[in-house]
Amino acid sequence: MGVFDRIAETGHEQVVYGHDPVSGLRCIIAIHSTALGPALGGTRFYPYLSEEDALVDVLRLAHGMTYKAAAAGLDLGGGKAVIIGDPATQKSERLFRAYGRMVDSLHGRYITAEDVGTTASDMELIRRETRWALGSPVADGGSGDPSPTTARGLLASLKAVSHFLWGTTDLAGRKIAVQGVGKVGYAYVSLLVEERCEVVVTDAREDATVKAVTELGVKSVEPDNIFTVDCDVFSPCAMGGVLNHETIPRLACAAVMGSANNQLATREDASRLVARGILYAPDFVVNAGGLINVYEELRGYSKVRAMHRVDNLFEATLRILELAREQGVEPVTAAERLAELRIEEIGNLARIHTGEG
Ligand code: NAD
Repeated sequence: MGVFDRIAETGHEQVVYGHDPVSGLRCIIAIHSTALGPALGGTRFYPYLSEEDALVDVLRLAHGMTYKAAAAGLDLGGGKAVIIGDPATQKSERLFRAYGRMVDSLHGRYITAEDVGTTASDMELIRRETRWALGSPVADGGSGDPSPTTARGLLASLKAVSHFLWGTTDLAGRKIAVQGVGKVGYAYVSLLVEERCEVVVTDAREDATVKAVTELGVKSVEPDNIFTVDCDVFSPCAMGGVLNHETIPRLACAAVMGSANNQLATREDASRLVARGILYAPDFVVNAGGLINVYEELRGYSKVRAMHRVDNLFEATLRILELAREQGVEPVTAAERLAELRIEEIGNLARIHTGEG
């Protein structure tokens, strides 16, 4: 399948390939939609096995960002970028600055931030070449690592789930199973412990599990046993595709809600969860805290304002769960409809000519 066929499938606006022979940079920037504003999405640095894999991934991720920004009520479109390579060995100042110049050449149509394989310090290097890079370290005037804010947004959404299912936002005594205690998962578990939840964690890396158990006083299970933990909420905070025909029958929870992107392996899995009576709070709604945080940088970063907007994920999540109930559809469908409505209603505001230019 050619690049144009792939783009046509999901309606992307633009795909840009960048190459710098000196540093070995090979990147793809995908802009899915700018209907609501500039396409904002992180840069993933990953050793893709083929260019085809990289293209498929960047298109899928950029598409997801459009829905995430729209569902969060932000004036942002959706985009994403990938750098093909091993972040452990191929990072260099030259590479990130060359990449920064590629981003700059889009004049703000695409704005980047960190993602898997890139850090706040990498953003600082990119920023030397373009102002269209967010999430550099706090010491450099940026909003820093978005993970703790993503965790804060998860907690707000968990309270919405609790309110919806059990009529209370008090989480004390609730049992939560958390898969993955990396940057987001660890911060989220810390917040759960403060809320006096009973937490069970797991991680593919033993050192990460041990750290959570010893520092936060939570229990742990082997990675494969996290699915069968008898709990109120299962929170996937590791990788995508975790809700599938094999795992869903094993779940012993009332709800699934976590930070991992693209948790549903297929669309059918949303129906499988409904059939099992398990509420699924859509990932792209509940994990928007990090995006909301970097978005605030565009307006001149204020931590107070950013945290306030992240806490609003309580209302956003609750609204989607209630809409789904009213419309008799899965929450993921209700969230997509809401995002599409916003893109349609607000996205065509540009049709009203303001008289400038
Ligand atoms: P991370 O790499 O810091 O942490 C992920 C953790 O999951 C690691 O400790 C890893 O060992 C573990 N893991 C991987 N596979 C596993 C498995 N099969 N079983 C158990 N543990 C496993 O990543 P992160 O930044 O914490 O992000 C976690 C998820 O949330 C990702 O899917 C990411 O895309 C998503 N997300 C992150 C942010 C953010 O602000 N960082 C924002 C939105 C969404």
